[in-house]
Amino acid sequence: MVHCDGLLFQYPAGEFSLRVASFEVAEGQSVAIVGPSGCGKSTLLKLIAGILVPAEGAIRVADQPLSSLPLPQRQRFRASRIGMVFQEFELVDYLSVEDNILLPYYLSDGLTLDGSVRERARTLAAAVGIGDFLPRHPRSMSQGERQRVAICRALVTKPGLVLADEPTASLDPANQTRSVALLREQSAGVGAALVMVTHDHGTLAGFDRVVDLGSLVTITPTV
Ligand code: ADP
Ligand code: MG
Repeated sequence: MVHCDGLLFQYPAGEFSLRVASFEVAEGQSVAIVGPSGCGKSTLLKLIAGILVPAEGAIRVADQPLSSLPLPQRQRFRASRIGMVFQEFELVDYLSVEDNILLPYYLSDGLTLDGSVRERARTLAAAVGIGDFLPRHPRSMSQGERQRVAICRALVTKPGLVLADEPTASLDPANQTRSVALLREQSAGVGAALVMVTHDHGTLAGFDRVVDLGSLVTITPTV
C-alpha cells in the first residue's frame, strides 16, 4: 500500500533533514511509528499523505506515484483514498456530528454523497458507540467521543490507507487504549492499512508492526 524508497526531505528553513532508505506498508497492515520527539514522525506521515514532497526518492501509495503527482491530483487522491486522524481531531464545531463525519464529501469534488454513504456513516458511528450522537454538535461531547467522530470521518470514504498522528495525545489513559483499539478494528473492518504515530507505548498491542523511526532514519544537521 505504501512504498517509500530513498527519501530525503528538508524543510526550507531549519537544520532538520529526514532520510529514510526504505519504508513499506502492506495492504491492510497496521504499523505503529514510535521514536523520540523531533525525530521526524509527523514529517514522514505528511510525506506519505502527499502534504509534503521529498527532495529525493519516491513515494507510492496504492500504486500511485504520489510524490510525482501535481498538487491538485495529490489533494484529490488524499481526499478520496487516505483517511486522516489528527492529534486535535480538527472537528468543525458548528456542524453536527453527522456532517463532521461526512465532511470529506463536502470538501472534495471527487466524492459523491449518496444514501449508501449516509448509511455507512451511521453504521460506523454505531460501531464506535456514538450512534445516538449524530444530530449533536462536537463541542458538547467529551474528548473520547470527539475522537470517535474523527475515526468515523477518516473511514467513511473506505480509504485503503489511514494515517493517524498521535491520535490519543489529548485522551486520558483508559480512553487511549480503547480509542486505538477502535481505530485498529475499524480500519481492519474497511480493509484499510493503518499507520499510526504514537508517543505512548501502552497503545502498541495488536499492531502488526512497530517501527522505531529513531533507528530507521539518518538525521543529518545541515551546515
Ligand atoms: P516528530 O513528529 O517526530 O516530533 P517532526 O516531524 O514534527 O517530529 O519534526 C522533525 C524536525 O523538523 C524537528 O526538528 C522540527 O523542529 C522540524 N520541523 C517541523 N516542522 C518544521 C517546519 N515547518 N519548518 C522547519 N522545521 C520544521
Ligand atoms: Mg509529531
